[in-house]
Amino acid sequence: MRIVLLGAPGSGKGTQAHRLAERSGIPQISTGDLLRAAVARGTPLGLEAKAVMESGGLVDDALVLGMIRERLAEPDARAGFVLDGFPRNLVQAAALDGLLAELRQPLDAVVQLEVDPAELVRRISGRRSCADCGRVFNVLTSPPPSGAAAICPKTGAPHRLIQRPDDNEATVAERLRVYEEKTRPLIAFYQSRGLLRVIDAEGGLDAVTQRLAQALAAPAAARPRRAAARKRASRRKPARTAGRRRPTARAAKRRPASRKAPARAARKKRAGSPRARKAARRRTRR
Ligand code: ADP
Repeated sequence: MRIVLLGAPGSGKGTQAHRLAERSGIPQISTGDLLRAAVARGTPLGLEAKAVMESGGLVDDALVLGMIRERLAEPDARAGFVLDGFPRNLVQAAALDGLLAELRQPLDAVVQLEVDPAELVRRISGRRSCADCGRVFNVLTSPPPSGAAAICPKTGAPHRLIQRPDDNEATVAERLRVYEEKTRPLIAFYQSRGLLRVIDAEGGLDAVTQRLAQALAAPAAARPRRAAARKRASRRKPARTAGRRRPTARAAKRRPASRKAPARAARKKRAGSPRARKAARRRTRR
């Protein structure tokens, strides 16, 4: 199973990707996590990404693509993967298409997690993660449990909750703006490829997990009518007929032949209508 989870910051992609990956026995590949790990290690890639991440912008495409290419080449990704936080703009989506075509591993589905913007802000402000194992909690909606489950599997001690440096108010606003501008267009991109499913990602975690599983079991949403109709039309129309269609403004600019059209129309106009021509002939006969 090769899946992409799309959604705004705070939509729960990370949590749902983690659950889906565990259940399906495939890796969760999160560019956010990979970048945070590079920042923590202080690698050159991490140093380059750090400032951009803290400002809420997108890290350079070439850098992220290099990272993804390497990660997808690892043996565990052969069984499938859940991509979380990637692709994040059209350049990355097109590059992923190319990379997966090369690997002969096309995507099976893309799921968009829809959440109201006010709810996104509430979720992000309550988000905390364990500094040791990385598990994500929310002090408002899903606080760390008490008892044995409160123990970090990495250290054996209670989870050490920290807030991500980019989860502050100013950065969150910028991340949401960047999402609307750069990432939302991917919905149409994947819809036109017949891969998109959209789910309501509000409500309890388990309810969303269930909706996600149902969406993956169901066939993809229909392609948008216009794209489907265009595809049908291009299959039906022989090239000659299509060529005779009135040129669009752009085609008129492109094709020098169509520059003749206005001259032909002017000649016709000078000659007048068929009725006018008939009357003129009658006049000359008299
Ligand atoms: P969220 O989805 O909550 O914003 P992520 O962990 O996915 O969190 O990403 C955190 C930050 O990492 C982003 O704001 C961005 O700066 C950077 N980042 C993550 N994935 C990408 C990507 N595919 N392309 C560019 N930047 C990315």
